Amino acid sequence: MHRRITERLVIATHNPGKLAEMRELLAPYGIAAVSAGELGLGEPDETGDTFQSNARIKAVAAAQVAKLPAFADDSGLVVDALGGQPGIYSARWAGETKDFNAAMARIERLLQERDATTDDRRKAHFVSALCVAWPDGHLEEVEARVDGTLVWPPRGTAGFGYDPAFLPDGHTRTFGEMTSDEKHGLPPRGMGLSHRARAFVKLAEICLDPR
Ligand code: IMP
Repeated sequence: MHRRITERLVIATHNPGKLAEMRELLAPYGIAAVSAGELGLGEPDETGDTFQSNARIKAVAAAQVAKLPAFADDSGLVVDALGGQPGIYSARWAGETKDFNAAMARIERLLQERDATTDDRRKAHFVSALCVAWPDGHLEEVEARVDGTLVWPPRGTAGFGYDPAFLPDGHTRTFGEMTSDEKHGLPPRGMGLSHRARAFVKLAEICLDPR
């Protein structure tokens, strides 16, 4: 039985970009979101080996300490020709300085080493796993993906992370060339384009009531 989110929700992230995005997504549902950073909660080690397990680790840790339902996400880029790398290590490939140009160049180097020059050898997808954990142990979990092709050189300056290298299927512009509205493609205009928007639409269906 699914459980609705009706009260305050802790957003288990210390990333201001993700917090702003989640506040924006939750606003139409009248849910007040408070961040783990604002509550002074620590950051647990992401020791899981899947996106979903890492999202669960973060949500459960925040719910236990805050005594409120807590939301967490984990996401990343999965490249077929690289056996799924960087996957759950997507953020780490950018290093301490968060240099995503270097991370995109590293992926390109590895693709070239594998002669992955045609579109069908350059397939990739973004994954977003979301988890809401309640203090009594109840969990709601969803996952979604968006499929695409990696382009080189990267195109566009919008978005973040690997956006400029990712051309979603059925589109002619990379995520780096799209506005945030286009990238997420949320209702009422779209049914979700980005992995995070698609996962959020799924979560809203089972846990949120429009105001
Ligand atoms: P985490 O979810 O904070 O562990 O990190 C996910 C990492 O995956 C980010 O730092 C980005 O490198 C990458 N990533 C996840 N979602 C996106 C996206 O929408 N665009 C570009 N890169 C993304």
